[in-house]
Amino acid sequence: MTNDKELSSFIPKRDTRYEIRDTIVNRGLLFVISGPSGVGKGTLREKVFNIFLDLKYSVSVNTRPPRKGEIEGKDYYFVTVDEFKKRIKENKFVEWAIVHGDYKGTPIKFLIEELQRGRDVLLELDVQGARQIKKKFADGIFIFIAPPTWKDLEDRLRKRNTEGEKALEKRLKDARIEIKYKKNYNYLVVNDNIKTALKKIESIIVAERCKIANYKK
Ligand code: 5GP
Repeated sequence: MTNDKELSSFIPKRDTRYEIRDTIVNRGLLFVISGPSGVGKGTLREKVFNIFLDLKYSVSVNTRPPRKGEIEGKDYYFVTVDEFKKRIKENKFVEWAIVHGDYKGTPIKFLIEELQRGRDVLLELDVQGARQIKKKFADGIFIFIAPPTWKDLEDRLRKRNTEGEKALEKRLKDARIEIKYKKNYNYLVVNDNIKTALKKIESIIVAERCKIANYKK
């Protein structure tokens, strides 16, 4: 799926990763957020970026058509399935997966370049993508966003009104599978209230940035 040799040459050993944070940083932190469709990841993500202006978002490549209001290069890079498959062959993705029937993938170049510059990067991925990233970036920080109830998730998806009934049913079915993977994550945030969920994510990011292990000895 990716060129691991090229990738490993970019990733220094953990104890040589950092100089003092905020001065000379060798490698940024990698945050991954996952959670079922409709759980509020998009809203939370937007708010997180309003708090952490230095955090970088990795824009994914996507084969589904843009939704109303979605902007090319900001929300996704929209490509055809043929173009996506071509990029897989060219090792352009650090991870990719078929999510709810569409191809989604994380461009390798942006992620590696930003981390190497010492910038912290946030990825929003499904559970398959997060698993692939965990294999390659063991030090990543994995956050799972869960709904307070299934009913709440269904209500939110219906209210969002971005899918037809069939697609919505598929997303709800997928959600029950996705939530089983929460054990692979470092943190669980239940989004029962956007303000408190945001506070929790903010606290995780701040705490991870303060970790002694993330400073060079
Ligand atoms: P949507 O079609 O609603 O924008 O996204 C559906 C799901 O795809 C989201 O839950 C999101 O986490 C996931 N997703 C978005 N970009 C990527 C990506 O680059 N890789 C993977 N594996 N999943 C992604």
